[in-house]
Amino acid sequence: MLNGTISHWRQQLTGGAISPAELVEEIARAMEERNPGINAYLSWDKEAALAAAARADLSKPLGGIPIAVKDNIAMLGQPTRCASRMLENFVSPYDATAVTRLTAAGAIPFGRTNMDEFAMGSYGENSAFGETQNPAAPGHVPGGSSSGSAAAVAGGMAIAALGSDTGGSIRQPASHCGVVGIKPTYGRVSRYGLVAFASSLDQIGPITQNVEDAATILNAICGHDAKDSTSSTEPTEDFTAGLGKDIKGLRIGLPQEYLSSGNSPAVAAALEQSIRKLTDLGAEIVEISLPHAEAVVAAYYIIACAEASSNLSRFDGIRYGYRAAGTNGLDDLYSKTRETGFGPEVKRRIILGTYVLSSGFYDAYYAKAQKVRSLVAGDFAAAFEKVDLILGPVAPTSAPKLHDASMTPLQTYLADIYTIPANLAGLPGISIPTPVAEGAHPVGIQLLAPHFAETRLLQAAAALEKAFQ
Ligand code: GLN
Repeated sequence: MLNGTISHWRQQLTGGAISPAELVEEIARAMEERNPGINAYLSWDKEAALAAAARADLSKPLGGIPIAVKDNIAMLGQPTRCASRMLENFVSPYDATAVTRLTAAGAIPFGRTNMDEFAMGSYGENSAFGETQNPAAPGHVPGGSSSGSAAAVAGGMAIAALGSDTGGSIRQPASHCGVVGIKPTYGRVSRYGLVAFASSLDQIGPITQNVEDAATILNAICGHDAKDSTSSTEPTEDFTAGLGKDIKGLRIGLPQEYLSSGNSPAVAAALEQSIRKLTDLGAEIVEISLPHAEAVVAAYYIIACAEASSNLSRFDGIRYGYRAAGTNGLDDLYSKTRETGFGPEVKRRIILGTYVLSSGFYDAYYAKAQKVRSLVAGDFAAAFEKVDLILGPVAPTSAPKLHDASMTPLQTYLADIYTIPANLAGLPGISIPTPVAEGAHPVGIQLLAPHFAETRLLQAAAALEKAFQ
């Protein structure tokens, strides 16, 4: 029943076929029925959503549309726990700007989606409140860290959702669940109210059933915000403007480094299929090179962990949420709170981040990683002199099995190789599903664009999406 897009439900609402309150009830029923098996949501507040539905203004672009929100994006009066014990009892006293803007556009923020703790992870298994199942690939991970947002949309429990992407956490779960996910240009969407993981990489974006819905949500949430000093003053545009236009003559770069033998046959096939379709549509595929592609994972994990170690120092048992009981003095309170409040992956990152920032190792690791980051940005700047967009995989494989004990943290990190570059360089990127055989697991394909070229990115993504139908 919920497998209708935003535009479908908007028609139903404005045509009077359903009321906003009935739509909220519909979603709440789907949550009650399906969430116990999927664990896409950590909480939802039907009464608050019904109160918002009673005020819904259907003349607005998202009027009456409930939208699920990742648990690390602050929502007034709602738990904002980042799927962590550390924030187990935290209720946000304010809305993130992205949530304020969704509301201003008429949407009804509804439901807090599960995630890897503090957005650290690729599989949704690092949640303190249990992993999320992949509705499109039972027994396999939904991807992460926006695991719940992607699973809620793929599992018919949300029309659309917000996620956050620091190194791929919107695009990769979208790919593994067979839905659309876009990470906007760094600075396009305010980070005010997004609990910081790695501030120079984090970006909020939509996870939706199709490209048009992603553009509609971007129209609502993008734009300068005085509350976020890294928010861009670049004017926003109508991101739906390119939808339906052809892409004849568009030059699409194919990085040679991305045709790796490490890609699974399904991913290689998705890439080939995309190249064929884009060529059929009149685009020109151009071979390009991203010479520093191999170094991105190392640079990302140094920078992301360094920033995380600083950002997460605020969780000390004094200021927010959880505090360990029975402690003896301030130091003991800090350390016991962190010991029992954070899960193993978060601790690993804090320790790694503190290490790379320590005086003896700063130059060898952190400073070097920053240099690599500049080189990666330079690779893209050079590539975008020759091409309009870049095509690549989202991940080297489709969704891995849940609880695959043979997977080391390092192997997990390496699977981020295709999503991380956009974060290091601040570029927009989108994942769209490719057609797969009946019963096969979803595989997404990624397009990247120059800074602030979301309209072009969405235009090409929509053309490819249509060609895949
Ligand atoms: N998988 C990456 C990590 O674990 C990306 C996470 C994210 O984008 N939030 O850091």
